[in-house]
Amino acid sequence: MTIVPEGLIPDLLTREASFEAVEKVFAAMAAGEAYNFPVVREAIGHEDALYGFKGGFDRTGQVLGLKAGGYWPHNLEKQGVINHQSTVFLFDPDSGRVKAMVGGNYLTALRTAAASSVSIRHLARKDAKVLGMIGAGHQATFQLRAALETHAFEKVIGWNLHPEMLPNLAKVAEEAGLAFEAVELTGMTEADVIITITSSFAPSLLAEHVSPGTHVACMGTDTKGKQEVEAALLARATVFCDEVAQSVSIGEAQHAVAEGLLAEADVVQLGAVINKSHAGRTSDAEITLFDGTGVGLQDLAVSAAIVEVAKNNGSAITVPL
Ligand code: NAD
Repeated sequence: MTIVPEGLIPDLLTREASFEAVEKVFAAMAAGEAYNFPVVREAIGHEDALYGFKGGFDRTGQVLGLKAGGYWPHNLEKQGVINHQSTVFLFDPDSGRVKAMVGGNYLTALRTAAASSVSIRHLARKDAKVLGMIGAGHQATFQLRAALETHAFEKVIGWNLHPEMLPNLAKVAEEAGLAFEAVELTGMTEADVIITITSSFAPSLLAEHVSPGTHVACMGTDTKGKQEVEAALLARATVFCDEVAQSVSIGEAQHAVAEGLLAEADVVQLGAVINKSHAGRTSDAEITLFDGTGVGLQDLAVSAAIVEVAKNNGSAITVPL
């Protein structure tokens, strides 16, 4: 069994490799070659923790496994470790024997950022210049770095409910040599691409804040009740997602579907665009919206890539079973 500890992963995993792994597994999902198992998420009645499992099987990549973990809200103050904690386990699909254990914290941020980047590559207008960010927390900096590496943006604008966090975004933009401007939500009409990555339970971005032709990647809503954008925006947009079942139940689309503004059948898997079985964006005026809820197969695909690199460069720890 191969062990790749959390501390090694930032040196092993590149944004490029995460992008490739996520793009490939989205394509496999849309082709019916990979599927996610139902998500388990439980309040365990201890330390106010939410704990659960996301798993799946990718026949194309021969990757089987699960990510176990969740959210411990008091970790930072009590234990000095981050509140989100997870670990990935990979199994041999031929025998069921455990193959690898991989730290899941850093890779979760990279695989989430990779998903919005894959959506930008396949759905944003090629002439997109201004990137709008809504959210400025931990995930937002990963999202921003990945988006700037994926597309040649010329300017970054940002809004956050807590404006004192905006320097997190400014720093990343400046590192990439781009100007950063803090704006009101009404200023988001300047953006050609908008990424939302907050933990909000009420919409911040309204339909009137989004110009025709914009691509919106909604990345923060991953639980029932969370909401970042007005349901009316989904009614105006062509809606894509990582997985339809998650999008309409725990993603941004849950609200538009519940309000009768969007039908489940109208939500398209991004993998279908990657596979070219769906045209994707069809005009410069169309608003495209990606509902990225985060699927277990993303974690497994990126973990399998990490294990390969760690084995090849000798940094993996191997233990007998
Ligand atoms: P964080 O705590 O570091 O940052 C939270 C962000 O949300 C901050 O910008 C904060 O100002 C903003 N915010 C908080 N309350 C708000 C409100 N009521 N209205 C508007 N904004 C508000 O969290 P993070 O680690 O950056 O995670 C952000 C979100 O992304 C969380 O909801 C998390 O569950 C989700 N997430 C999604 C995926 C996925 O695959 N889709 C993966 C990881 C995390």
